[in-house]
Amino acid sequence: MQRLGVLTSGGDSSGMNAAIRAVVRKAIYHGREVMGIMRGYNGLIEGDMQPMNLGSVADIIHRGGTILHTARSELFKTPEGRAKAYANVQRFGLQGLVVIGGDGSFRGALQFNREYNIPVIGVPGTIDNDIYGTDYSIGFDTAVNTVVDAINKIRDTATSHERTFIIEVMGRDSGWIALTAGLAGGAETILIPEKPLSIDELCDKLMRGYKRGKLHSIIIVAEGAASGLEVGRQIKEKTGFDTKVTILGHLQRGGTPTAFDRNLASRLGAAAVDLLLAGESGKMVGMISGKVVATDLQQAVQKKQLIDLDMYTLADILSI
Ligand code: ADP
Repeated sequence: MQRLGVLTSGGDSSGMNAAIRAVVRKAIYHGREVMGIMRGYNGLIEGDMQPMNLGSVADIIHRGGTILHTARSELFKTPEGRAKAYANVQRFGLQGLVVIGGDGSFRGALQFNREYNIPVIGVPGTIDNDIYGTDYSIGFDTAVNTVVDAINKIRDTATSHERTFIIEVMGRDSGWIALTAGLAGGAETILIPEKPLSIDELCDKLMRGYKRGKLHSIIIVAEGAASGLEVGRQIKEKTGFDTKVTILGHLQRGGTPTAFDRNLASRLGAAAVDLLLAGESGKMVGMISGKVVATDLQQAVQKKQLIDLDMYTLADILSI
């Protein structure tokens, strides 16, 4: 295999650049060539790609986002779109693909591999951290640190004004960001889709804290569990407490990646190249208990990495 392609697809996450850098430099180290494909599968369909060299990935390890840009490509979901993409695979002489993205991007990679037999390796990049086959996905740690920073700042105001604050965080249908950041930030209550809590239970907890002399509270709401504004409205209706709601939104996706995400991305990006050069395909590289592990892409898209409910119980005990 002489020439590889690399692309980033789906939602961006911090550390994707470090992964691209590792793919390019590890491949060049082995005497191979790499084409950087722009805007996910769209670039493959349109033939928008260019050769990468050592300098193309200089000075990007600390930058959020992705220099290859990313996109959601409806056309790639159609056989016609994938036929165009394959025509470009042949035209540019690509013999293997590294796809950095989430489970949707992996589904696309698998489909492409099945139809055209082009070797593909997935690298998990998503802040949601719900991908099976890796303890951590690239960008999750940075997102959690961003949320913890927000909790710290809001806590200053919550303490000064003796108020209840609600912070809505991302994660799609997973509570990973909410739980991990909530535990680290000392949140009083964490609402996650995996452990539903009724509004009555939530208000009881708030009232117990209030009676015990607690003057402020921070509630973390995962977007997959409820809307922060709606929770605030219901708390007001049940208890009369005013709440202030902050929706962190897209500031959780970008920003300079943490050292953890850079190291994870560097190790996984390099491992993806090693797998391709060893003749592997249809695998995702992940980190399990500190070791790089390859999982079948088929499994990675079929299963989900579930949160550890013991961690939820602990957060609840410690926030009493
Ligand atoms: P993520 O990779 O972050 O989960 P998406 O679910 O939006 O993001 O998927 C990214 C892209 O992967 C889609 O826009 C599409 O181009 C491609 N893709 C997703 N599912 C499929 C599929 N079943 N077949 C072909 N391509 C797909």
